[in-house]
Amino acid sequence: MPKHARCAVGFCDNDKRYPDLAYVRSHVNNLTFHKWPVDPKLAEIWRKQVAKTRGDVFNPSPGASGTFVCSNHFPLGRRTPENPKTDYPSIFMTVSDYLQKNSPKKRKANRWQEPGSSKCLLAPKIEECNDDCEGTDE
Ligand SMILES: [Zn+2]
Repeated sequence: MPKHARCAVGFCDNDKRYPDLAYVRSHVNNLTFHKWPVDPKLAEIWRKQVAKTRGDVFNPSPGASGTFVCSNHFPLGRRTPENPKTDYPSIFMTVSDYLQKNSPKKRKANRWQEPGSSKCLLAPKIEECNDDCEGTDE
């Protein structure tokens, strides 16, 4: 019974226990969590790839239970044992993916504004302040 069922890749929060919360990239048809490879050579390839995405020391042993990589990180959206060239994680989350995922309900305000009009349409309140501030002691 592995306690950890979270994708090992940095910036990816997908967790086997919470499929409803998973972030699925467009190239993935069916999100699955791939167990860490038992084959030492393959495990080392995976380790190097995943380690690049993490800030900590990442060194799971081959076949480690509780270490998973989700489908998002495979070029074809799944493992391809028949083709070693795509059978390791090589697609990683970017920070913007991560932020997007964590603020899906954020609405864009003032969408109607022209992209070029960067100036605020509201009258700045500074003018009121100026009246007060200009009254010096002279
Ligand atoms: Zn993942």
